[in-house]
Amino acid sequence: MSSPADPDCLFCRIVAGEIPSERLYEDEDILVFKDISPQAPFHALLIPKEHIATLNDLEPEHASVAGRLFLTAKSLAAEHGLAGYRVVINTNREGGQVVFHVHMHMLAGRQMRPGLG
Ligand code: AMP
Ligand code: ZN
Repeated sequence: MSSPADPDCLFCRIVAGEIPSERLYEDEDILVFKDISPQAPFHALLIPKEHIATLNDLEPEHASVAGRLFLTAKSLAAEHGLAGYRVVINTNREGGQVVFHVHMHMLAGRQMRPGLG
């Protein structure tokens, strides 16, 4: 079952095309667009088109789309010739989440330090 789009959700509005974005990839279930405030030369946001607020709201029925977010990151890396990259999913306010539509940050194009310190 898919959740209806949330009219108050920024990323649902981006999915619907009501708010412009620089789209890098799209299929039936996934949208990838450039982050508006990039933290690296390559900074994309990978999202399920379905409104799922946080990682904690994932259910077993979302396993396929969740897995495909990772496969999409791999494809983007190949397409954009990224030698290495970092993916991050901020979860809840305490985890740094600001937009409550689950998203995977994909950062590349600058040297990342080992670890997360
Ligand atoms: P988070 O802190 O993990 O919730 O990340 C939210 C991200 O959404 C931030 O990196 C913002 O720069 C990004 N963002 C906010 N508004 C937009 C927008 N209209 N288009 C693209 N990215 C956005
Ligand atoms: Zn949403």
